[in-house]
Amino acid sequence: MTSASTEVGVAVSATDHQAHSLVARDISVRFGGLMALSGVSLEIEPGSIAGLVGPNGAGKSTLLAVLSGLLRPNEGQVWLRGEDVTRASARARATRGLARTFQQPELFLGLTVREHLVLAYRARVSRTRLWRDMLDPRCLLPPSPAENERVDGLLEVLRLTRVAKAPVAALPLGIVRLVEVGRALASDPHVLLLDEPLSGLDMKASENLLEVFKSIVEKNDHGLSVIIVEHDVAAVLALSNTVFVLDFGERIAAGSPEQIRNDPAVRAAYLGDSEPPQRSAAPRPVDQDPQELTGDPST
Ligand code: ADP
Ligand code: MG
Repeated sequence: MTSASTEVGVAVSATDHQAHSLVARDISVRFGGLMALSGVSLEIEPGSIAGLVGPNGAGKSTLLAVLSGLLRPNEGQVWLRGEDVTRASARARATRGLARTFQQPELFLGLTVREHLVLAYRARVSRTRLWRDMLDPRCLLPPSPAENERVDGLLEVLRLTRVAKAPVAALPLGIVRLVEVGRALASDPHVLLLDEPLSGLDMKASENLLEVFKSIVEKNDHGLSVIIVEHDVAAVLALSNTVFVLDFGERIAAGSPEQIRNDPAVRAAYLGDSEPPQRSAAPRPVDQDPQELTGDPST
């Protein structure tokens, strides 16, 4: 695959960056003496869901920071929709269609779900208006018909219509996460990076989120790609078209969920053994522990 191409140094230049939403090639990041990432590459197809997994300290968050423009790699390049953005700021990447969620959502607790999405939509359309609203969110100007239509669509795909009028302060974490995803989607991105969106959620909320992520990609009309960094490997295997596995800063495997499930290096990284995998591609039955395959080698 890519690593082989990299070695021969020929096929790499033939990588069709235009055909991918996002490409990272040979990314290395050093923190002092520590190699947080060593020559990591990935390619994300339009309209696909890619999972990024690996044990604690594997380099997942570092890679996400490199992709989103918060961290400049020591080596390697990043292309966003065919354009080399290695030196572009996070804001410039956002303008080119990259959106992300954060593990700690920053929401205005007094505002309703709907008001958050209206604000997020305005941030895309008019920064001036956004700032006016932000300075005094309680005086939120009434939404225009176009804003209402767009926000109604978002509420529906996120399954938030029923709680649209509720202040986010009153809502459970699973709903708050969806509001955060909605804010990222309001900019109508081409690539959405999700940082551990399932952390702290119970199984029912997790499954709801996973279903929403699937339908967001399926219903998108311009090939939205989602990259999900997640501790829950079983969830990632059930959701993703392609999975990339990091361990100690290196990409140790990449492929379909089936290939990853059967990959001896992955099993060794997670389970420290060579037993055959137990899980199937089917979504988790509700009576199983979602953390079961979430192996942390330090425990
Ligand atoms: P993951 O998200 O997979 O758990 P990280 O990307 O957070 O892993 O970290 C990868 C490695 O880099 C870890 O050993 C971590 O301690 C180290 N690291 C991450 N960020 C920094 C930093 N800002 N300074 C120094 N070391 C860091
Ligand atoms: Mg992390």
